[in-house]
Amino acid sequence: MTEVKKPKKPRGVARLIPGKCIACGARCQASCPKEAVEMNEAGEPIIIVENCIGCRKCIKVCPADAIEIYYTPEEQKILDELAKSAEKAKAPEPEAELSEEEARVLAKLREYRGVWVFVEQTEGEPAVVSWELHGIGTELAKARGVELCALVIGNKVEDLCHQAFAYGADKAYLIDDPIFNDYRTQPYNEAICYLVEKYKPEILLMGATGLGRDLAGAVATTLQTGLTADCTGLAIDDRGFLLQTRPAFGGNIMATIMTEKTRPQMSTVRPRVMPIPESNPSRKGEIIRESIPAKEEDFAVKVLEIIDERKGRESVDVTKADVIVSGGRGMCAKDNFTMLQELADELGGVVGCSRGVVEAGWMPVERQVGQTGKTVRPKIYFACGISGAIQHLVGMQDSDVIIAINQDTQAPIFEVCTYGIVGDVRQVVPAITNRIREIRSNGKKGSA
Ligand SMILES: Cc1cc2nc3c(=O)[nH]c(=O)nc-3n(C[C@H](O)[C@H](O)[C@H](O)COP(=O)(O)OP(=O)(O)OC[C@H]3O[C@@H](n4cnc5c(N)ncnc54)[C@H](O)[C@@H]3O)c2cc1C
Repeated sequence: MTEVKKPKKPRGVARLIPGKCIACGARCQASCPKEAVEMNEAGEPIIIVENCIGCRKCIKVCPADAIEIYYTPEEQKILDELAKSAEKAKAPEPEAELSEEEARVLAKLREYRGVWVFVEQTEGEPAVVSWELHGIGTELAKARGVELCALVIGNKVEDLCHQAFAYGADKAYLIDDPIFNDYRTQPYNEAICYLVEKYKPEILLMGATGLGRDLAGAVATTLQTGLTADCTGLAIDDRGFLLQTRPAFGGNIMATIMTEKTRPQMSTVRPRVMPIPESNPSRKGEIIRESIPAKEEDFAVKVLEIIDERKGRESVDVTKADVIVSGGRGMCAKDNFTMLQELADELGGVVGCSRGVVEAGWMPVERQVGQTGKTVRPKIYFACGISGAIQHLVGMQDSDVIIAINQDTQAPIFEVCTYGIVGDVRQVVPAITNRIREIRSNGKKGSA
């Protein structure tokens, strides 16, 4: 057998693109390791083709993109052939070459089709994250060429199916039964597992809320499938696998996780991480009514009373605010949060904070923004005396406008902000508040 030798990849040679050189001062000549560049009187390069080794150093230093790589027609032919064989190498193995076990797994995976989103509700009130998941769910379903289905479970919740259609679902699986009036892990878990085993969706998405985290874990364990919690990105690869991206190792790296051998592929996503799609109330879909074989007597846990912990306590939901004025350790003391509250009041917003502040006991944990706090997406986010640690950034970097105030010019928050103000928060924040008040009162005087 004769070995077929792969042709060597041609490197080409540099050449000047006419009319683009700005005679910057012979940077290309200085960068050339082979004395392949000479300069003419106009300060433009002349490439000595025999010396050029196609190293591209001159191209990299050229500020005017005036040099390119040129290949002869023969070299171009070799490049095209190499590209073709690389494409072939990338192509998946023909199925005939799969082992028996691999073929069995593949056949099992192919039984699953469709993208499902669990519509979370409490007393019939849907969690907004469910609609946010309909946005990304629509994209995933489109990429797979399958339907987006809503999974609605509760008591007197049929209306949620119609809301799901408005947000993009093509179909809704509905289990409407007094058993599901209040959330309990066991009946909800049984209902979802029953539907998944019957209809076999390839992807199942849930909100990473308290309820969603409890339920998703139970469902994935019962179905013996993979679950990626708190995803910040979801996409489909060319083999149809769900690419589930989430921060790992304390938020220092982003990991992309795949469920290669089991179905459905399950992910939870936090509220406010994905944008909410536009609702189109005229969209229609098909409702598939289902019931589970179990009865109330089968469930050991009974809900006797629901005690709302928030009652009587001042409660602020930072995830719903359009303006958040957040403070970090740079606020220097708990009392200085009054100035943040004043600014927030002027703008109709709320006060948030970093974990540093919660640890210092200056603000309650419900106000914490970030990886272990809330994910927010307001129209305006003020970061006052916040350094911009990655764990904070993952919770607020999708805000429309970020205004950072920090006295350290090197603070990482300045890398993600829309507007940065270098200064002492204790002077800058009251100055902004006063200016807003001034503008308001001038506006009022003008209109009086
Ligand atoms: C697993 C894990 C999860 C985490 N989750 C979160 C989370 O959800 N949310 C979160 O926020 N953090 C979280 N953290 C902590 C995070 O790593 C940072 O420690 C925290 O965000 C720092 O808070 P900070 O910016 O307020 O304080 P610092 O990092 O101490 O920054 C204070 C900033 O204030 C500036 N400053 C000081 N004085 C002034 C002044 N007078 N005027 C203007 N600027 C001033 C300083 O230059 C500095 O940049 C987590 C960490 C881990 C390991």
